[in-house]
Amino acid sequence: MRKIPTEDAVKKAIEEVLREHGEVSTLTRFRKLVLAKLKEEDEDFSLSATRLRKIAGRMGIIAEIHYRQSEETSENMEKCPVCSSPLRFLLNKRIDGGIVKIGLKCDVCGYSTGTKKKIPIKYSFAFK
Ligand SMILES: [Zn+2]
Repeated sequence: MRKIPTEDAVKKAIEEVLREHGEVSTLTRFRKLVLAKLKEEDEDFSLSATRLRKIAGRMGIIAEIHYRQSEETSENMEKCPVCSSPLRFLLNKRIDGGIVKIGLKCDVCGYSTGTKKKIPIKYSFAFK
């Protein structure tokens, strides 16, 4: 039967993997390494790439993100595509005093985008 490890157990496994490997360059590889670490504790542990990415985002260990630029507007984005935290609008003052939205930012993991969506496609992980 599959078991879900606690967030603390996942964080501990992440820390061990980064200590051993320094930087890990893709989410697929990172998941494989972290899951192997978890399975040392319990063979039945499972961990989805999505959950790992969210926890990594909250831990601030996403070293680099490669993006694909989308033509879609970012206006309707509510949650960070990396760590699912709420995004805040980046605002700029125009010369005439008006306020203009220039993009969105996640204060948890550092993701930011302009008025068009920036879609994360590749990650690397490391202690900063
Ligand atoms: Zn985020």
